[in-house]
Amino acid sequence: MKLLKEKIEREGRVLSENVLKVDSFLNHQIDPVLMQAIGEEFAARFKDAGITKILTIESSGIAPSMFAGLTLGVPVVFARKRKSLTLSDNLFSSKVHSFTKDVTNDISVSKDFLSNEDVVLIIDDFLANGQAALGLLDIVGQANAQTAGVGIVIEKGFQTGGSIIRERGVRVESLANIKSLVNGKVEFFEEEPT
Ligand code: 5GP
Repeated sequence: MKLLKEKIEREGRVLSENVLKVDSFLNHQIDPVLMQAIGEEFAARFKDAGITKILTIESSGIAPSMFAGLTLGVPVVFARKRKSLTLSDNLFSSKVHSFTKDVTNDISVSKDFLSNEDVVLIIDDFLANGQAALGLLDIVGQANAQTAGVGIVIEKGFQTGGSIIRERGVRVESLANIKSLVNGKVEFFEEEPT
């Protein structure tokens, strides 16, 4: 997605050969105009998939998911990373190791909001080693719901997550796919790796 790639080139900061910081438009400050375009792009790519629900993970997946949900006319559910006093036993949960924070979180979704009648589009901000996406796929599986696919704002195609998820036969649509972050420079794949 051209608009997104240009924004990454202008404002992204390469912190290391593995980590890209995009705090100015996605992970801290949020650019609503760009998020709307991103949400519409996900909606267009999955418009014929019969989606009934979007599933994401707090907090950075919520903004792009909201606009995709608005365009598709479906609710957005976000998995919580912390135990909540108002969330109890009625939960689907899975363990997710965070790539950037090096901690393992139990993520959870109330059973009230996912069922075997749902066709789910999973959305997240980054795809690195695939742990967050695998946790969300696990939760969709526990609900006996169907997965329509995974929509990713920024895939780091040089890490393993994309191939792990695609090898499971899950459709992955990433709007920007990074080939390398070597020498402080962002290089994109022209086409998504198949
Ligand atoms: P994975 O679970 O695929 O290993 O990592 C995905 C999660 O880690 C995303 O939800 C995102 O929050 C975080 N993440 C992974 N790589 C990066 C990165 O390069 N930059 C930022 N800002 N977050 C990342």
